[in-house]
Amino acid sequence: MAQIRTRVAPSPTGDPHVGTAYIALFNRCFAHAGQGRFILRIEDTDKVRSTTESERKILESLQWLGLSWDEGPDVGGEYGPYRQSERSDIYQAHIEQLLEKGTAFRCFCTPERLQDLRAEQMQQKQTPGYDGHCLHLSAQEVAERLSAKESHVVRMKVPAEGDCRFMDGLRGEIVIPWTQIDMQVLIKSDGLPTYHFANVVDDHLMKISHVIRGEEWINSTPKHLLLYEYFGWQPPEFFHMPLLRNPDKSKLSKRKNPTSIFYYRDMGYLPEAVVNYLGMMGWTMPNGEEKFSIEEMQAAFDLTRVSLGGPIFDLEKLDWLNGKYLRENLSDAELAERFLGWAAQDDRLGRLTGLVKQRVEKFTDLVPLAAFMFSGLLELRPDDFQHKKLDEEDSKKVLQFFLWHLEALEEWNRDTVETTAQSLAESMELKIRDFLFPIFVAVTGKPVSVSVIDAVAILGLDLVRARIRHALDLLGGFSKKKVKEVEKAYQQLQEHQ
Ligand code: GLU
Repeated sequence: MAQIRTRVAPSPTGDPHVGTAYIALFNRCFAHAGQGRFILRIEDTDKVRSTTESERKILESLQWLGLSWDEGPDVGGEYGPYRQSERSDIYQAHIEQLLEKGTAFRCFCTPERLQDLRAEQMQQKQTPGYDGHCLHLSAQEVAERLSAKESHVVRMKVPAEGDCRFMDGLRGEIVIPWTQIDMQVLIKSDGLPTYHFANVVDDHLMKISHVIRGEEWINSTPKHLLLYEYFGWQPPEFFHMPLLRNPDKSKLSKRKNPTSIFYYRDMGYLPEAVVNYLGMMGWTMPNGEEKFSIEEMQAAFDLTRVSLGGPIFDLEKLDWLNGKYLRENLSDAELAERFLGWAAQDDRLGRLTGLVKQRVEKFTDLVPLAAFMFSGLLELRPDDFQHKKLDEEDSKKVLQFFLWHLEALEEWNRDTVETTAQSLAESMELKIRDFLFPIFVAVTGKPVSVSVIDAVAILGLDLVRARIRHALDLLGGFSKKKVKEVEKAYQQLQEHQ
């Protein structure tokens, strides 16, 4: 049998998500249980949304969890490059093949035409999709429009009728009518491939034998299988894992649960406990034991035993498990060592001492100044937010808007945090001191000698987000109706900025 090769293929477009770690874990266990190889591929074909910073965070967070890979952009391998932005020539050569065979076609439709088409389809309650307008352009017309340098994309042909049937290793046969499948764009007008095209070409060239990914990709699988067919390639086997869910069963979202892997690091969880917890999502050990190491999981691993009921990502359960690890797996000395290692991460302490050095006389003076950095959620009371210029609604708005602004920051440092605060205060027509007050309470809890801007910068987005959320909850949050209003107000503010 050919070697087992699996991959995790994150798009570097935001915070490193626990869902990525979950999928990485199952792919890694499966590959290594079968003496295969586990690959990390960076899917950064979306030029606008992908950032190198996000890629760096993904690598760092998976490394923190110990989910190492055998081939990837940093360690190399036989089938690189492992970053899609470095593989443009490969996609170009492959799209030529499909164009020659006539299984893909150039489409010159303008965005306006496509928008109108969509609006019309929506109005008629039809499934929105491309109508095949450019499907039958003559070779001559295509050549003319190409030489006139008309902007265009390349789309794949899709059967007009019948069903796509495929086997999902966890779900059995899946049947999706071709009429539900759009003539997917394969190459965008900027010449770069879409996810679908790059993903299939790479899975084939990287000899991926088993595609284990989230269930949100089930509906894309017909397009992928059709591409394998067009190329005349043997497709891999597909396994669609159940999505992680919030305790209320909705899809795991950062609105309701911290989803960034770094939140768990910064909050002081042990990586081995987080990995164990992710392993509990859809997987149970044959002996029913809930606490297990990645090695134990791998030794017992059997993909067909993954259960499909939406696994609930529940912080209380993770706390319980992490507590067990602290008590049962670490000696007192080890616990002390791990704690000190955590406290020193990212040079947090060094950055703080730099700020307060002029004002302290002995180590003990540092302790109260540093406490905010080493705490999780703070004990606050609604009264703490009382302020003569801001009522509770104003404070909530400040907190929410500031959080949204911070989440949009591409670079996180003291200067960017400060500029953000200043410009937001200005557009909210608040004095910076008043504006910073609720943030100060939410983020540091009580007076510290560092400025709130420094505190935010040192703490990092994940803990700041958690504390702002916590404060918002404490102040009663926003009702569903209110959320809409606040979003609208925020949008208007942005437009006027
Ligand atoms: N880039 C896709 C993602 O971000 C990969 C999906 C797949 O595994 O095919 O999830």
